[in-house]
Amino acid sequence: TLQDRLAATFKSLRGKGRITEADIDETAREIRRALLEADVNLAVVKDFVAAVKERARGAELHGALNPAQQIVKIVNDELVTILGGETRTIRYAKRPPTVIMLAGLQGAGKTTLAGKLAVWFKGQGHSPLLVAADLQRPNAVNQLQVVGQRAGVHVFAPEPGNASSNDDLDRPRGNPVEVAKNSITEAERRLYDVVIVDTAGRLGIDAELMQQAADIRDAVRPDEVLFVVDAMIGQDAVNTANAFAEGVGFDGVVLTKLDGDARGGAALSIARVTGKPIMFASNGEGQRDFDVFHPDRMASRILGMGDMLTLIEQAEKTFDAEQSAKAAAKLTGQGGEFGLSDFLQQMQMVRKMGPLSKIFGMLPGMGDMKDQLNNIDEKEVDRLEAIIHSMTPAERDSPKIIDGSRRARIAKGSGTQVSEVNNLVDRFFEARKMMTAMASGKMPGMPGLPGM
Ligand code: GDP
Ligand code: MG
Repeated sequence: TLQDRLAATFKSLRGKGRITEADIDETAREIRRALLEADVNLAVVKDFVAAVKERARGAELHGALNPAQQIVKIVNDELVTILGGETRTIRYAKRPPTVIMLAGLQGAGKTTLAGKLAVWFKGQGHSPLLVAADLQRPNAVNQLQVVGQRAGVHVFAPEPGNASSNDDLDRPRGNPVEVAKNSITEAERRLYDVVIVDTAGRLGIDAELMQQAADIRDAVRPDEVLFVVDAMIGQDAVNTANAFAEGVGFDGVVLTKLDGDARGGAALSIARVTGKPIMFASNGEGQRDFDVFHPDRMASRILGMGDMLTLIEQAEKTFDAEQSAKAAAKLTGQGGEFGLSDFLQQMQMVRKMGPLSKIFGMLPGMGDMKDQLNNIDEKEVDRLEAIIHSMTPAERDSPKIIDGSRRARIAKGSGTQVSEVNNLVDRFFEARKMMTAMASGKMPGMPGLPGM
C-alpha cells in the first residue's frame, strides 16, 4: 500500500532538517506509483505529481512537521483541491420544482440513487417525485416503483401498455421524453418541490442513448444533471465521463459503489478531467448508504493515510514551535542542559495531542515502540508532574544533583514514595539519551515527532 511505501520513504527522510530536491523526487516517485495503483488516469497522475513537486520546492519548512510529514500534507492538500475543495450540494430552483436528472451507464446505480436522493431530500424537508424515464429495459419502471415504495415517495410512470409478444411482456410503452415532460406538469400541479428523473443507460457509450438523454434534458430543463458513475470502473471512468460531458453535459458527479474496494482513483480522474464537482457518494445498496461527498475523506482514502493525516493535523494544532526548538537545541547540545522542566514540557505537549500509545500507533513503522509506550499509564504522567513540581529549580535544571536526601524531601513534598522519585530520575536519564539520539537523527525507525 501507499502507506507502507511512504513509511519506507520516510525512513530515509528522518532526521533531515529540510526537504532536498532528492527527497522530493523520491517521494514523488512513490506517490506516482501509488496513484497509478489506485487506478488514476496517467495524464492526471503526471499533472498531479508535477503540481506536488512544484509546491514542495516552494514550501517553507513548517516547524511542527518533519519533511516527510510536510510532503504528505502537500499531497493531501493538493488532492483535496482537485477533488473540489469545499463540498457543493444541490442548487435549488428559485421557483419549484427543482429538477434533478440522473445520467450514466447501465448498472452505474442511477435507479438506486434515485431512491437514496428521495430519502435524502425528504430528510431535508422536501417532497420529491421520482420519474421513470427509463423505458429501455424490461422491468425498469417496476424497479423504480419498488425503490419509490421503500423511500415512501410517489413515482410518476407511464401506464403499462399491452404486450404484443412474450419478449415484450414487461416492457413499458411510451416515450421517455414525453413521460419526463409530463412529470414536471404533474409536480407543479401536486406541489412536489423536487423532481428526480431516472433515465436509461446502456452498457457502453452509445449515440442513440446520448441523444435520448439530451432530449430528456431539453424537455425538463434540469437544475442539476448528475452524472452517476461506478467508482469500480477505474480508468474507464474518464472516457465515460468525457462522453457524457459532451453528449449530455452535467453539473455534478455522483460516485457509487464506494463500499467496494476501489481506491478512489476514478474520483480523482473524473474531478480533474471534467472539472465538475463530485457532489454525492454512494456506498451500499441500502437507501441510507449515501452521503454528500467529502473531498478530504476521499483524499485520505486515496492516500490510505487517514491516521497519519490526523496526526499531522493534531501536531499542527498543539505544537509550540519555539518551545520545541529550544528543547531540540538543548538535546543536540546547543543550548544548555536538557533538564526535567524541559522533559515535563515535552510530555505535556505530547499529551495534549492525545493518548500516547495512540499517537505512536498512528505513525508508520512504529510497531515496537508502540508496545513499549503502551506501558506508560496516562495517570502516571500526572504523578510525574507532581514530583517534578516538588523539585527546586536547580534540581530540575541539573537532575544529577538529586541525591538521596533530596529524593526523600521530594517524595514527601509530592506525596509519593522515594522509589517513585528514583524511578522518575532513572527514566529521565534514559529518555534524555533516547531523545538526544532522535533529535540528532541517529535513531533508525523513529520519525521526528514534533518536540521529541
Ligand atoms: P442503473 O442501471 O444505473 O439504474 O443501476 P441500478 O440502480 O439498477 O444499480 C445496479 C446495481 O448496482 C444494483 O444491483 C444495485 O443494487 C447496485 N448498486 C447501486 N449502488 C450501489 C452502491 O453504492 N454499492 C453497492 N454495493 N451496490 C450498488
Ligand atoms: Mg436504472
